[in-house]
Amino acid sequence: METTASDQIYDYLERIGNLVRMGERRVDSVKGLQPVQLEALHYLSSCNRYSNTPLAVADYLGLTKGTVSQTLSVLEGYGLIEKIPDVSDKRVVRLVLTPRGQQVADEAIPPQLLKLAVDTLSEPSRGEIVAGLRTLLQAMQRANQLKSFGLCKTCRHHRQEPDGNRWCGLTREALLPVDAEKICREHSIADIVSAELDEAV
Ligand code: SF4
Repeated sequence: METTASDQIYDYLERIGNLVRMGERRVDSVKGLQPVQLEALHYLSSCNRYSNTPLAVADYLGLTKGTVSQTLSVLEGYGLIEKIPDVSDKRVVRLVLTPRGQQVADEAIPPQLLKLAVDTLSEPSRGEIVAGLRTLLQAMQRANQLKSFGLCKTCRHHRQEPDGNRWCGLTREALLPVDAEKICREHSIADIVSAELDEAV
């Protein structure tokens, strides 16, 4: 049977994914954590204040609420995250990394193995790989109508005034520069991919 592009892409992604997870497990502070627990920790270290709920974690990881609930309980038990009631709606739980959780996420992701490999690539090769992976991710998200979970500054709702002030066109709330670098469950891909998107990765 002929090898298709999907076969090849799958084989590369699977092998790379295995190596990335192997690299993560080499970090002492991560030992004892399952890959899904580390993925949830990484998500919570990268997401903005609209996206740090158990439901958003489930959406991002493509898991059921029950599985995510167990994952979050383990992270909480290890003292890596805290569950805090939302200030305006007590029914909503916000998930916040503890200093220890942030330290574990910073140490493990991206793994040293990946950083060393990327350092050996030329600048054009890195750009091509990032652009190719981004295109594939967006195609899969579009095909499945999944949330994009992109960087805030690449969202079509992201607004920046000439004086540098930023705000969200969806929530109408002010955004800090640090917010622009976070991922968001309400992110919506801009119709025209701007140069900012290239700069974002
Ligand atoms: S601009 Fe988009 S990504 Fe940023 S907070 Fe608003 S909805 Fe989320």
